[in-house]
Amino acid sequence: MADAEISPAQSPSNRLEEILDASDRIEELSDSENDYEDMGSVTQEEQANIDYLESVRIPIIDELKTETSEVQDDTLEVVLPFLEGNPNDYPLNIFGIPQLQREKHIAFLKQALGDYPSGFALLDASRPWLVYWSLQGLSALYYDISQYRERVIHTFSLAQHPTGGYGGGFGQLPHLAATYAAILSLAMAGEIEAYESINRKNMWHYLGQMKQPDGGFTMAAGGEEDIRGAFCALVVMSLLHIPLELPPDAPARQHGLTSFTDGLGEWISKCQSFDGGMSAAPGNEAHGAYAFCGLGCLAIIGPPKETLNKYLNIDTLIHWLAARQCSPEGGYNGRTNKLVDGCYSHWVGGCWSIVEAATTSDMWNRSALTRYILSGCQFKRGGLIDKPGKRADAYHTCYNLAGLSATQHTYTYEATMQIDLGGSALDAPYYWKLDGVHEEGKVWDETDHIAEVHPIFVVPFKAAHACRKYFEEKEGF
Ligand SMILES: [Zn+2]
Repeated sequence: MADAEISPAQSPSNRLEEILDASDRIEELSDSENDYEDMGSVTQEEQANIDYLESVRIPIIDELKTETSEVQDDTLEVVLPFLEGNPNDYPLNIFGIPQLQREKHIAFLKQALGDYPSGFALLDASRPWLVYWSLQGLSALYYDISQYRERVIHTFSLAQHPTGGYGGGFGQLPHLAATYAAILSLAMAGEIEAYESINRKNMWHYLGQMKQPDGGFTMAAGGEEDIRGAFCALVVMSLLHIPLELPPDAPARQHGLTSFTDGLGEWISKCQSFDGGMSAAPGNEAHGAYAFCGLGCLAIIGPPKETLNKYLNIDTLIHWLAARQCSPEGGYNGRTNKLVDGCYSHWVGGCWSIVEAATTSDMWNRSALTRYILSGCQFKRGGLIDKPGKRADAYHTCYNLAGLSATQHTYTYEATMQIDLGGSALDAPYYWKLDGVHEEGKVWDETDHIAEVHPIFVVPFKAAHACRKYFEEKEGF
């Protein structure tokens, strides 16, 4: 079409005005004072919750309808009644919020450690995870897990591969995710028998096979290289006090690498995306769980203040992490334009301790997350969930509880702290300490209290410390 044929209404400037002038594209949510008018009479607690929700609502939303905006609207419709009222009729804590249903969650996790119907055979490769999530969830609820020690040792003795590392069960190929969950479970089970069931020399060789010439790690032999691999490998190395030198048969040696940490910080640095988040591998979309893996990995390589500042753009990282907290839901999503989900209570909520150790404290809304977990993520029959309407599983139970713990405690990295460990490779995670309970804006009471969780290892502090100490004191493999 020639320029002369454009009518005034179609000219570019008019077209632009048409778009910009459309003031009804933007809607003031806070205009809708009558949102709750059909709720009937509300209790004092419900009114307090409604006032709170009004105070945290994002005032402006774009009216453009997309598939994403529609599922977000649907999600709010499902979540809001749980934040406003108490549809499950739980007893309330002194802040008018549903109490933690501790006994129900304990019963759920104990069941998760039991037998499964045949349909669960598909999950066989995830068995180490089921054990880890359940043991960590129980520990967070102050439940003594020592009764499971023998079974945990037996399970992982069978899952340990003859050439090193762990698979999902007997005869399965080793995988770093299974290995990570196995080692954390054995560390939690604790004591000599559990530690001695681990073949550390084979583990050293196995991890050497995962190290890549560009600094990262694959998840399995011939498998994908991503930031989970780096984190899982470093967690295992730190807890088991594995030598930093690559074994002689590590393929990466042929490319001039000599240490497990060669090129690792630089590789993680490349996983920071343009928007400040962290992705699975360079160039991918940022994701909450990968952010935790990346930050955790850097916090194992050295003190967070050093490593985060050296390898990441912290300003954009904070911006991205903060934008993951959904409003008014209060919980976190894992990616831009995605839905709130209880498991990110840990994957994103757990990032803050590490970031705060490198910058400044109190950068996130703990009480909003507490409300989401206690009001929205407790399944009526026990266990915790992604969001109202979903069913409980051990994964969401573990990570909601870890997130709830993060809201309740403050941890600091103290480089000058006296630790009764040798002070050698990958010992940075042992300089963390619990500062105490976070009181400001608290909306939980003693009935909702969760045990402290190590900010990097996500197991009890004692378990991580005792495991490392045992292997530091052991001579040779
Ligand atoms: Zn989830």
